[in-house]
This record gives sequence, C-alpha cells and structure tokens, in this order.
Amino acid sequence: MGRKGKKSSAPGGYGTLNKGYRMILVDGRLVYEHRVIWEKVHGPIPEGMHIHHVNEDRLDNRIENLRLVDPATHSRIHSGHELRDGEWWKRCVDCNELKPPAAFSPTGPRTRQSRCRPCAARLRSEQRHRANPNMGRCVQHVHALPPIPPLPKFARPVRSVVESMC
Ligand SMILES: [Zn+2]
Ligand SMILES: [Zn+2]
Repeated sequence: MGRKGKKSSAPGGYGTLNKGYRMILVDGRLVYEHRVIWEKVHGPIPEGMHIHHVNEDRLDNRIENLRLVDPATHSRIHSGHELRDGEWWKRCVDCNELKPPAAFSPTGPRTRQSRCRPCAARLRSEQRHRANPNMGRCVQHVHALPPIPPLPKFARPVRSVVESMC
C-alpha cells in the first residue's frame, strides 16, 4: 500500500508513505514518524490520543507542527472549527465567516446548524420568495444577492474518517 517516499531526516532512515504519512523503521517495526518525533520531545502519547499536523501538511513533522489532541478535538479542527476563548467557533457554510456558537441558529428541519443566523434568515426569505407565485417581483431581489465566492481550502468536504486526518 505504501510507496517509497523521500529520504526521511528522522533516525531510522528511509521513509515510506502510508496514507500521506511518513513511516520509519524503529527496532524493525514500521511506525508513524510524527508520533516518534512527538514522543521524543514530550514522552509517550497517551492511549487513544491523536497527533495533529497544525499546518495540515502530513509530511511536515517538525515538532512545532505537531500537537497532541483528543479524537473529538481533532474532528472539530478538521471540520473547520477553531477554539477561541474556550468556545468552539465554527464556519458558516454560506458566508464562510468564523463565528461563535451563539451566532448559529438551532438545528431545524430546513436549517443546518453550520449556517449562521443571518444566512439562515436569508435562506428562509429566499425560500419564501420562491414559494411566492408573484415571481416577477423577486427576480431583482435574487440578483441583488452577493456573488458566491469561490470555495476556499477550508471549505472542502468534511472528511470524517480518522485515517484521512493529519
Ligand atoms: Zn453565514
Ligand atoms: Zn489533524
């Protein structure tokens, strides 16, 4: 499954790539290089904990790029969340702004939790317009909406499988 990668700078020599991670040989066993590097500095990784690549580059195994996180935190980081003042801010799927939890409307049948209140309100208003038989009045309204910005990097589909995390 793994293919030969670039020469690893870590002791153990040559690295192979496994799902984008660099593997190294330690005592005859193939292990994740980033875990070895983290453990060298901080000691053994507690059971069940993950090591996150801060810049999301799985091959950037510099110690300052590695962070110990629990699996729940790790999932949140990879779904576009950010911890600010003890609160998990998240990104609105519509306006792409990072907002505190209070800025999001509760989950409803037509609103997704990841849409902020102003965007949810706009969506509701658009749905009302669409349902309105007097379409002529609404075309202008729809055209006045700001253009949809191109998808930035962080807006890519959420990868839920652990093996796709970095
Ligand atoms: Zn929004
Ligand atoms: Zn990660």
